[in-house]
Amino acid sequence: MSATKPLRGLSEDARQAMAHVDGRRLIGMLRVLATFGGREDGGVAREALSATEREARRWLVEQVTGPRYSWHVDAAANLFLRRAGMDDSLPPVMTGSHIDTQPVGGWLDGAYGVIAGLEALLALDSAGIQTQHPIELAVWTNEEGSRFSPGAMGSSAFVEPASLAAFLDSADVDGVRFGSERDATSAALPEAGEVPLARPLKAYVEAHIEQGPILEASGLKLGVVTGIQGVRWFEITVRGSSAHAGTAPLDSRRDALMTAATTVARIGEMAASLEDPALRLTVGRFDVAQGAINTVAERATFTIDLRHPDETTLSECGSRIREIVSQGAGSCVAEVRCLMQRAPTVFANEVVSIVEAAVVASGEPYCRIVSGAFHDAMHLADHCPSAMLFVPSHGGISHNAAEDTDEADLIEGARVLAGVLVELSR
Ligand SMILES: [Zn+2]
Repeated sequence: MSATKPLRGLSEDARQAMAHVDGRRLIGMLRVLATFGGREDGGVAREALSATEREARRWLVEQVTGPRYSWHVDAAANLFLRRAGMDDSLPPVMTGSHIDTQPVGGWLDGAYGVIAGLEALLALDSAGIQTQHPIELAVWTNEEGSRFSPGAMGSSAFVEPASLAAFLDSADVDGVRFGSERDATSAALPEAGEVPLARPLKAYVEAHIEQGPILEASGLKLGVVTGIQGVRWFEITVRGSSAHAGTAPLDSRRDALMTAATTVARIGEMAASLEDPALRLTVGRFDVAQGAINTVAERATFTIDLRHPDETTLSECGSRIREIVSQGAGSCVAEVRCLMQRAPTVFANEVVSIVEAAVVASGEPYCRIVSGAFHDAMHLADHCPSAMLFVPSHGGISHNAAEDTDEADLIEGARVLAGVLVELSR
């Protein structure tokens, strides 16, 4: 676990902030937040901009008091709790995450980063620390993307305000518009000041549960996140002709489903042959027309979600997929469409090294890690120097009522976050 290059030491203020994190208060606040939308099975149902999320936002802002604090919203209903700096005109250091969940989510996804940030602010209060830069705790709107598509609307609109207009008409399954829920959510905190999107930030750091198995399996307590893997989404359509299952001879068929199934198997073999532990390839959707038991399929469409931390590997793998699809088409016609692509995110060295210094100061075993999942920090990294900190997830389970992390790990992560925020805001 030793670092490969010399680490800067932490300031005395940063060490003090870490020492003043109150583990019992942190866990208590996490448990209270989990009651907003809490379910019998331990899961949480708190979808973006719902009445439940609005109540949770109200509770959150009530956790900070005193003249140092103010709260603000922007045009994407992102909520910011601001702790004033000695020079309040300086760009803030920001931390945060999201409090919306999947229809049935766990109690820590997103919530952990918000409450760890809140505990860090309270620890600064307890330690009597004044920071040069203001520090803000962000609650990003609609990260999950399960009620309104796409996900990470709040953080992406913050970074790229022009994207907001297209989000406003996004509707949930009941036809309720994002725009109207955004307005209702902002109106529910009338005392919040308005702040512009895309305002300058000194740095952004986000704590999050890993949502994967790596830290736990390696016996590690903290992950210094150096980046987020890139992704490409492909949709492959194979077209043949429908025919009678009882009469069409096998050798005369143009069977779209058989062709697609063989192609999927070849793509899977190609992925396995690379023996690359960082590669992720998922065929998550398979649609067949006509979809009748006694008709040869005339069309089969499937999707591929391809992820890797390295752009060159993504691009090479994408080319291999295109080759396999065109070579395997036989008497059918096959086409590959790229639905979405996002290059890997590389976090800023200056923030990563501060996170690493605070992790080292915690004395806990750790590693550097690349995030498998997307996070708000992916967008913030396009706007200001950014990084993330992971704590382990039991069994790597997330988006599930069983999602959990040892309390000791949650507390250690909040301690590190407090140190990082002080260090960044000097
Ligand atoms: Zn999350």
